[in-house]
Amino acid sequence: MATYDEWLETFSDAYDMAPEAIDLACPNCGRQRLRLVFTARPDRSVGHAAFWCDHCLQGIGISRAVIPAEAIVRDSSVPADEREPKIPNFQLAT
Ligand SMILES: [Zn+2]
Repeated sequence: MATYDEWLETFSDAYDMAPEAIDLACPNCGRQRLRLVFTARPDRSVGHAAFWCDHCLQGIGISRAVIPAEAIVRDSSVPADEREPKIPNFQLAT
């Protein structure tokens, strides 16, 4: 299982690619199925980043991340179950 530090390193590369498709290999399973979605209030430039793999459903969460221009952002002012896009219940790396 990939460590938190390995995920963080890949996050850093993926962050620089946003909002382009992330063509990086998952540090855990190697598939190119990584997703990066931010959750924030519409008027904020800082939010919570969720970074995970849609194939193995592992990943990390980053608090107080600066949101890059054009990134995928969910509105935190709406109820959690109505936010789009949906974030799966992935397992956090430690
Ligand atoms: Zn994976």
